[in-house]
Amino acid sequence: MTSSAELLEKYRRVLPSFLSPYFDEPISIERGEGSWVFDTEGERYLDFFGGVLTTMVGHANPAVTEAIREQAGKTLHTSTLYLSAPMLDLAEQIAELSGIPDARVFFTTSGTEANDTALLLATSYRRSNQVLAMRNSYHGRSFTAQAITSHASWSSTSLSGLQVGFVQGGYKLRSPFADLDDEGFTDACARDLVQLLDMTSAGDVACLIAEPIQGVGGFTVPPDGFFGALKKELDNRGILFVSDEVQTGWGRTGDHFWGYQAHGIVPDILTFAKGVGNGITLAGCVARAEIMDTIDVLNFSTFGGNPLSAAAGAATLGYVLDNDLQANAKAMGARFAEALTPVVADTPWIAEMRGRGLMWAFEICHPGTLEPDRDRTAAVLEGCKAGGLLVGKGGLYGNVIRLAPMLDIVEEDLDHGIDVLRSTITDLS
Ligand code: PMP
Repeated sequence: MTSSAELLEKYRRVLPSFLSPYFDEPISIERGEGSWVFDTEGERYLDFFGGVLTTMVGHANPAVTEAIREQAGKTLHTSTLYLSAPMLDLAEQIAELSGIPDARVFFTTSGTEANDTALLLATSYRRSNQVLAMRNSYHGRSFTAQAITSHASWSSTSLSGLQVGFVQGGYKLRSPFADLDDEGFTDACARDLVQLLDMTSAGDVACLIAEPIQGVGGFTVPPDGFFGALKKELDNRGILFVSDEVQTGWGRTGDHFWGYQAHGIVPDILTFAKGVGNGITLAGCVARAEIMDTIDVLNFSTFGGNPLSAAAGAATLGYVLDNDLQANAKAMGARFAEALTPVVADTPWIAEMRGRGLMWAFEICHPGTLEPDRDRTAAVLEGCKAGGLLVGKGGLYGNVIRLAPMLDIVEEDLDHGIDVLRSTITDLS
């Protein structure tokens, strides 16, 4: 078998330099089982990142594997030129779950393409190329998705056909309004939105796209009701609200099935990806029919919702619902927070622990300041790995540790991960 060192040499030789693997000594995951993975060198790790929140119901989940195996034995692909029961059944289920009235579902292969679709719909429906996004946002890697990404480390170009305004409020810790209480903060951001619209837009704006909890941005959580306050201003002007649920969907936040539900609103458009296929490429966009049907020419995605991805999606979603994994996310999230809050309180270099359900982050700074400490962040990542725990990194300055255990994680595994985190933090203090 090829060693990790040989694979790393090949990675550097054949892949673009903008890709980079985690760790001083990157690993190659050969197989997984539930919340655990095994690398090619035979090491076992507890997986608290799921390949960026994508393996959602465990590695090699038997229900998902069996559904894929069964569908693969029939046909992998037919396209939307033919009627496909797996795709239509899944669309019906997602339309129902979305909470959007008279919903239509368009399947794509990635979150990027789903958000691209949302922008196409909103700008066509509103006949405007002006869109709003939140500061510190990430929505994907395509030309359009990059235009609405407000995150210097992930913004590869400023060229765009869209006119984009960036709204305050995604990231309270570093906001100019950070010193206000939640209500004051929300109010200040809503008033700033009014000014942004009055002063910097021309004519009608198409939409505001937002992640209810910013993923790449470091799991930043706005106050409950925050997007409700913004949406009031949007509604006054007919501006659509697009909820990017790529990381926050399917019960991940514990309290709700969708991130938007913490804000007392229903979005006009919702996008999803990542976890719903448990690793198989499945994503999409949900919108009211009057918005979806704005596109009155032919428009299709070759692979979007193909029978294989739809079978994986149906099995994953079925597993989430049958086992009430939203409730598990809530319970395990509370257990996680209870165990680690005191550790963080005693650690001056963790500026903030934030999150919800099974999405938690530690923002790492030099003690007593908000000056990002990337070195210590890297040390936490390495320390966890040495303890047999895989965690993620992110945040505007690359100084946030992100934790997203599987939605079906059991107490014993969660507690093991907590122990590794606790001792890693203590060792580095
Ligand atoms: N939206 C959000 C919130 C994301 O986190 C991501 C991926 N990290 C995307 C969109 C893009 O999804 P994909 O990588 O599947 O294109």
